[in-house]
Parts: sequence; C-alpha cells; structure tokens
Amino acid sequence: MPAKFVVVLGSIMSGLGKGVVSSSIMKILDMYDFKVLPIKFDGYLNYDCGTMNPYRHGEVFVLDDKGEVDMDFGTYERFLNRSLTSSSSITGGKLFGSIIEKERKGEYLGEDVQVIPHLTNEIQERVKDFAEKNKLDFVVIEVGGTVGDIENGYFIEAMRQLSLKEKVVFVDVTYIPRLKTVGEQKSKPTQSAFRTLMGMGIIPQFLICRTDGEMSDSIRKKLAMFTSLDESRVINDPDMDSPYQLPQYLIDQNFDKILLQAFNLPKKKINLEKLEKWKSNVDKIISRDGKEVTIAVVGKYVELKDSYVSVREALMHAAGKLSVNLNVKWIESESLEKSDPNSILKGINGLIVPGGFGKRGIEGMITAIKYAREKGIPYLGLCLGMQLMAVEFARDVCNLKGANSTEFDPDTKYNIIDILPSQLSVKQKGGTMRLGAWDMLIKDRNSIAFSSYHKAVVSERHRHRYELNNKFRKILQKNGLKITATTKDNNLVEIIEWPSGFGIATQAHPELKSRIEAPSPLFLSFLDAVKKQQLTI
Ligand code: GLN
Repeated sequence: MPAKFVVVLGSIMSGLGKGVVSSSIMKILDMYDFKVLPIKFDGYLNYDCGTMNPYRHGEVFVLDDKGEVDMDFGTYERFLNRSLTSSSSITGGKLFGSIIEKERKGEYLGEDVQVIPHLTNEIQERVKDFAEKNKLDFVVIEVGGTVGDIENGYFIEAMRQLSLKEKVVFVDVTYIPRLKTVGEQKSKPTQSAFRTLMGMGIIPQFLICRTDGEMSDSIRKKLAMFTSLDESRVINDPDMDSPYQLPQYLIDQNFDKILLQAFNLPKKKINLEKLEKWKSNVDKIISRDGKEVTIAVVGKYVELKDSYVSVREALMHAAGKLSVNLNVKWIESESLEKSDPNSILKGINGLIVPGGFGKRGIEGMITAIKYAREKGIPYLGLCLGMQLMAVEFARDVCNLKGANSTEFDPDTKYNIIDILPSQLSVKQKGGTMRLGAWDMLIKDRNSIAFSSYHKAVVSERHRHRYELNNKFRKILQKNGLKITATTKDNNLVEIIEWPSGFGIATQAHPELKSRIEAPSPLFLSFLDAVKKQQLTI
C-alpha cells in the first residue's frame, strides 16, 4: 500500500500549535497501528537550527543522529515515543544547498533552474523517498510558518503538486478570535484564510480551529457553510491544561474516523490498549495530585518559555508518574546577581540549572547552585548545569578561588571546564559541537546515576563544546565530588555527584529523551528526592 500524506498548514498567525496538532494526528494514526512518521518543512535559509538563538526560535532540539532541529521535533518524539532522524527535517537551507550543488555538478545542464519545477520536485522526491525508505503507511507533514508567507510558498506549491499524484489530505490549523468588547467568536479571518488557500489551489479537508473556550455552534455552522465542508470536519481545538489532551479531544469529535474516511480507508478499530495507556498517562499529568513542590529553573533564556520546553516537559512527565503537584518557578539567572538571592530562592524545593551558552547570567547560576548545596536542596544540572556544579564545588569546597570555565573567563587560573580538545581545530560554527547520542559508562554502582538508570551503559544526547578538565579530576574527587559516569574510554566526564545530599549533574541533555510514556530516569530520581524530602518536613 503506498504511503498517504496528511499535510498540516497554519493560517492567520504563528504560535497556534501546529506541532501539537501534527503530533496528535500521528498519535491517533499510531493508535490505529499505522506506521507513521513526521516531516517538518521550515522555510528559513539556515541549514538547521543549530546556529539560532533560543530567544528567537525557542529550544534547539537535538536528535540521536546529531541533527539540530526545530523544537517541534521534541513534541513529535514525546507524543510518538520514538526517536526520529534528521531526514524528517527539510529546511530551505538544505534544499537550496542541494539544488546549487546539483547545478554545479551539471545535473541540470542546459536548463534554467527554477523554483518550479526544480525546487518543488526536489521537495516531492524527498518526501516520497522518506515514505518509501521507512515503509510508512502515513507521513504527517507539518508546513512551518503561516499560509501567505513568501518563505513557505514553495513548500505549499510542492504539496499541491504532490496531491495531484498521491493521496493527500490537507488540514488547516486556524484561529477563531474572540472580540472582548462583544464577547463573540469571529469566523471572518478563517473565511479569508480559506480563500487564500483556495487561491493557491488547495482545498483543506479539515479545519482545526484554535479557540479560547469551546467553539460556538453558530461559528461551526458558518464556517462549514462558507468553506463547503461538512460540519463534522470543522474541528474544535480549545486552550487546554495540557497539549497531551488533544488526541483524545480530536477522537471525541470523531476526527479519527472521518480522517480514515477522507482517505477512503475501510473502517478499522482503534487499538484500545494504546489508547487507554495514553489516557492514563495524560490523566496523571493533568490531575496534579499530591503535595505541591516548587522547582526553580535558573536559566538565562527564561523569558521565552519555549527555550526550555524539553526541561519543562521532562519535569511534567516525572511529576505525572510520581504523582507530584509540580510548580515550576522560572528564575532569570541575572536577577540573582542584582537582587538578594536568598529572597528569590526562598521556599524552593529543588533546583535545576539547564543548558546554555555565553557569559551572561553565569554567576547567578553558580549562586543558586551554592545555595542548593549548602541548604541540602536537591539539584539537577544539565550540561552547562554540570559544568557550573563543578565550578562552584571547585571554588567553594576545593578553595580554588576564581575557578571557572574558559568559555566565560579565558584567563582563569583554574580552568575547571575547558574546551574539548577535538574542538580546538574547529572553525565552522554550524553542526560542529559534540552532538547527538553518546554512550556513557556508569562506574559507581552506589551512585544516584546507577540507581536512576539501573544499568551501566546509558545513551543520552549531547550538545556542547566544553568539558570537565581532566587535570582537576583528582582534586575535585579528593574533596568529595563523585565522578560517577564517564565515556567508555574514560576521556570525558559525563556525570558528577555531590558527596552527600541529592546533587547530580550530567554533561548530557537527558530532558531531550524524556517521553510521557517513558520519563527521563534522572528527572524521576530528582523529583523523587524532592518529594521524599517534602514528606519529611
Ligand atoms: N556552553 C557549554 C558548552 O558548550 C554548555 C552547552 C550546553 O549547555 N548545551 O560546553
């Protein structure tokens, strides 16, 4: 059976949650035991997300295969509970790069190379190749950006052309605003967005309508009338407590059955076991049972919550599993340098310092780590959070005054954290960090690391240029810091732990592999330690 394609577009404005809609559609198809994977189109001319500022673009998500991709990939993986590859990410940069390479090789000899057909053919070939190689029943294609943008126009045109040859269903995610003064939902923007799409030769078969609160019946009727769609294909997607609720919400509106009909597929039963498992995990996340705990995340990009989505989600997965009522306090690290840190950190039950780059806010993070260590507050450090845990320990326990990472103080006498030797010759910025999945070896069986993972060889994803300087291993260990995991060849330190209390940090980014159906082991032990400490208070 050749693969079928669901193409998810977004109208009116960005930020409507196309990634969540695409993920939910995939989850539903997976619940019908179809083999489904995503493709994401991004119109920007960067090759990938690796060189983008998280403040502008949100978190850079890293895949096992070293791909630095859009944060929507995190959503896909968390919903699908499987690891994806870079071949799912098609960017303007990748496309133009390969078109120019082919042109230089003479592959288009005699032709003038154009958006149509060369670029649009390249897109269709990649999509079809992907479906074939992975032997898929369905590909869910999310078109980044908003309909009407110049950037994604060639992707949309390519999908129109694909729909002439293959089975394609277009889904438009749109916005129904509510005018505060009249308190009424408005359909007009969606009506004109639909006309824009029809002008591009595309007729969506579903409208997924983002609303605050339930969509009124009259709006549904009006939209159905103006778009010639059956009312059952005008689907509501209201604001929810958790994005993980959307698959069930779509199923409740019969979206699953109508989608299969749209592909002329025979009736099929949903895999109830998968559905129930998903539902029970989601219920645990939204029920917010148990005692409330406040976890402080001290980072430099906290103003844009999307910068740390995977950390937030990993915490949520663990909280659901452990029945912890999670409250996350996002703290801008520079604020700890400017105001009294004690008053800002007072009352927190656990601390996380996540990944980051550059000097700004570093001292604030170190202050927070010292506070947690001295007060016996559980600490989890992620990548930069491990490097700074080592720096704080060197300064305050080993008495190495001015210890630092050469990323922040190139002249420090005690370069506890230093550039990876393999990075010294690297000149290019894009895709050159230590990236992707790497094995680590947990050597100490009496460690938090071992009791979290319950095995000695563990694979986590990485994205860094600096590392713990091996010259300082001895002095750190002599003063009690535990090095509980390293690379198999013992060259790089992967996990460190405080001598007492709960303090663990890793050079990896375990948050990237946390899934609702498989929470990250380190986040689980961290939150479990917080929970246990809370119960004794
Ligand atoms: N800036 C640090 C490094 O490059 C940490 C990176 C990170 O936290 N992802 O090593």
